[in-house]
Formats: sequence, structure tokens, C-alpha cells
Amino acid sequence: MHGGKRLSLFESATLQLTAWYVLLLMALSLLFSMVLYGIGTNEFNYVLAPPRASEIILFTDDNRALGAREQRVRESSGRLLASLIVFNVSVLVGGTVLSYLLARRTLKPIEKAHEAQSLFASDAAHELRTPLAVMQTEIEVGLRDKKATTGGQRTILESTLEEVSRLRTLTDRLLQLASQQEVSVSEVDVESATVEAVTRVVSLAQYKKIEIDNQVGRGIAKGNFDSIIEILVILLDNAVKYSPKKSKIVLRHTETSHSLDIQVRDEGPGIPTAEQAKIFERFYRADSSRSKENVAGYGLGLSLAKRLAEEMGGHLSVQSNGKKGSAFTLTLVK
Ligand code: ADP
Repeated sequence: MHGGKRLSLFESATLQLTAWYVLLLMALSLLFSMVLYGIGTNEFNYVLAPPRASEIILFTDDNRALGAREQRVRESSGRLLASLIVFNVSVLVGGTVLSYLLARRTLKPIEKAHEAQSLFASDAAHELRTPLAVMQTEIEVGLRDKKATTGGQRTILESTLEEVSRLRTLTDRLLQLASQQEVSVSEVDVESATVEAVTRVVSLAQYKKIEIDNQVGRGIAKGNFDSIIEILVILLDNAVKYSPKKSKIVLRHTETSHSLDIQVRDEGPGIPTAEQAKIFERFYRADSSRSKENVAGYGLGLSLAKRLAEEMGGHLSVQSNGKKGSAFTLTLVK
């Protein structure tokens, strides 16, 4: 997809349903026409066939008359065939229009319900955002006041602050997942996008003494600058979360004539093959991340990253042998 407008889920579903209706209609119409043509030509042959010996011959049937008869049989079959072709073309044209209208009508209630659902999710997320932001600022201010916050109080506030910022990320991601807005796609320099993304996670990485080696050089691809940063932040954030202390994360890019890949590779626990398809589903968290080290998260990051990648006409994939290290690749079109 080269920046053009992409079909919405319902537009493509309507077209698919229309195609099925037309296919069914045409199969029936052609079958019907073939049977009709078969019967018709049989009848012509029978009616216009030369008289049998037992029949009374009123006119002398010379060869010319016989030839004329055969000619009429051919002409009648030809006319029948032409009428059937016109009929089938009309069925195709009229049927396509009718099928499209019918498909739209069928899918309309589903589309409405779907819209209402995403509207609800985005409203709810939107409503949650403001109080969370207020709480976050208040706690931060409270923590700055050394006298008012001592010992136990401080620990409580710090852990509350952590929860609040997790909830903020959750609401932001929910809001983005529910959003129906189309992203604008233009030519983007992936080097500056990666630099910006790395800046946003560097303090988290430093906390775990993880080194981020950004080898991405200048490269132009079609995408949305903010979406690319967002995807990379999600991938880097996961790489930091799931990797052991003092490990290394490498970012690099490769190009072909029509695509550009940005890869985020870590030295974490890896992702078993069976889990690899599931981790892109909403709210899915692999068992290891739930049980072992109790890493914070809601299982929304990768589903959002995948959705953002697809909105730009690209895609997101994972490579891991399930033992050591995972690599996530964002592929963009050029
Ligand atoms: P979250 O990190 O909030 O759980 P994500 O959608 O970002 O949600 O990730 C889904 C799951 O994929 C995670 O719970 C984790 O099990 C697995 N995962 C993602 N990134 C990595 C990684 N770099 N290394 C190992 N496992 C990962």
C-alpha cells in the first residue's frame, strides 16, 4: 500500500459478501442457461428436422429445402444463444448492484454494533485518563516534599505512582486500539524515529544496566513518524522488561528495493514457537511473564504495535527459537 486510502474492515467485508452473492447468482444463471440452451436446440432439431419416411410429404423435399431447414435450426440456436448471453450479462450487472446493496444492508447492523463498542471503549479510556493524570501529578508533588513524606509513606506513594503510570499506559493503549482514525502516511526517516524511541526508554534500560546499541542509519520508508516511534517504544520497553540485567539490546535496519526492516533484538528468555502467534492478541501474556519474575504489563503492547504497523501498510513479526533472545522486526514499505 503506497499511502493510498485503505479499505475499512466493513468495506472489504461488504465487497467480499457481494462477490459471494454474485458468484452464486452467476453459477445458477449459467447452469440454468446451459440447460435451457440444451433443451432449446434439441427442440429445434426435433421440430425442424427433415420428415421421416412414415410422414406424408406434401412438398418435394429436395436438397435445397433440406439445407434451408438446417440453416433455420442454426439461426434459431444462434438467436437463443445470443438472448441467453444478453440475459446472463444483465444478471451479472443487475445482480452485482443488487448484491452490493443487499450485502451492505446485511452488514450495517454489525457495523453499527462494532462502532458503538469501540466508541464505548474509547469514551471509557478517555474518562479514565484525566483523573489518572491528576493523581500522577499529585503523587509526584507529594513525593517531592521531603518533610511530608517519610519512610513508609514514601514507599506507599512510590508504589501507588507506579500503579498509576501503568494504568495511564493501559488507558492510552486502549484509547489507541479503539480509535478508528486513519493515520497519515508519508516518507519518514527511520534514523530519527529510532533515536527518539531510544531516548524514551533509556532511563528504564539504565535502571537495569542494559545497553541499547542503536545501529540504525539513515533510511527512508513510508510510514507515520509517531506510529513508528510508538511501535519501537513498545518493542524496546518489552526488550528491557523481559531481558536480564546487564544484557544488550541491538537495533538495526536492513533494506530491500521495496521494503525496510527495523529489528529490535534482545538477550532475554526468548519466546516459545507455540506462543509466537498468540503474543500479538489483545490481553495475551505468555505464562513465563506472568509467573516467573512478575513483570508488569497488560498484554496490550504488541497488539497495538501490530495494529499501528498494519495501518501504515507494514507488518510486525517475531523471530525466536524459544531459548535465548527474541527479535522483533517492523517491516515498512518504501
Ligand atoms: P505485556 O508486555 O504488557 O505483557 P505485550 O503485548 O507487549 O504485553 O507482550 C505480550 C507477551 O509477549 C508478554 O507478556 C511476553 O510474554 C511476551 N514478550 C513480548 N516481548 C518479549 C520479549 N522481548 N522477550 C520475551 N517475551 C516477550
